[in-house]
Amino acid sequence: MLKNTQNKSKIMKLLIINPHPDDAEFTCACTIKQALDLGWEVHEVLMTSDEYGTSRNDFKGKRIRRIRKHEMREAAKAYGTKLDGKPKINLIWFGEIDGYLPFNKRVFLKLKTLILNLKPHVVIAPDSFFSLDLHPDHLHTGWLVYVAIKSMKPFQRPLLLLYHSFNPNFYITIKDLSIQMEALSKHASQISPLGLKYLKLIRGIYYYSRMIHTAPYLAEGFRKVEFKPNENSIKKLKHELIYCYIVKRMSGPPREHYLPTPKELGLIP
Ligand SMILES: [Zn+2]
Repeated sequence: MLKNTQNKSKIMKLLIINPHPDDAEFTCACTIKQALDLGWEVHEVLMTSDEYGTSRNDFKGKRIRRIRKHEMREAAKAYGTKLDGKPKINLIWFGEIDGYLPFNKRVFLKLKTLILNLKPHVVIAPDSFFSLDLHPDHLHTGWLVYVAIKSMKPFQRPLLLLYHSFNPNFYITIKDLSIQMEALSKHASQISPLGLKYLKLIRGIYYYSRMIHTAPYLAEGFRKVEFKPNENSIKKLKHELIYCYIVKRMSGPPREHYLPTPKELGLIP
């Protein structure tokens, strides 16, 4: 399974790179929990801090950021805590702004340096090529992680698994789904108790339908990246149809930048 020959450490390291707090809960929560239970070191990068994660203008910016960071720490604790009460997951706040994550050289170099310094064995990030979520922060995160790892020397590259993919080819079997809802419930500003119940039902149906591929096991699905030519191009008619008739329609028209602007909210000088 492992490709990374640079990391000789006996402790296995998993790095999840998410655009927003709560993305892990929707995509790879069970994998994270199982890695921690197996004694893996788990790091989670949050590219942004959800500064626009509310419809209330008086909460946007620094106020909701404080709330979302607190909720994220509480959600991380649901996966397990250390003796000092802190979450086992090491949260790394990357510092970009929700809805404004750029795909540029500055962020690329910062992210690549972070990955090289951390030396994870496995990286989990959004799939931006066969993506079920066309939010710009998700697309940019996926592209940034992909090009950062592709630009490394082959022996430095961790195994890259992409979530939210409509072309999965790699399944990690899981024992149960409970951690998803348990952790998601800590993001209280994002979801009501009733919404949580509804989501639990939808998520259950989604996961059980995946058993077509993974029966008799439940599993989380990813696209394993090989860095082969053309592996990211949509070639099959099935994928073309999913992209045009499901993903694009689900996502609606391209998103405008969030308002008020980060400058008006005092997030940037
Ligand atoms: Zn997100």
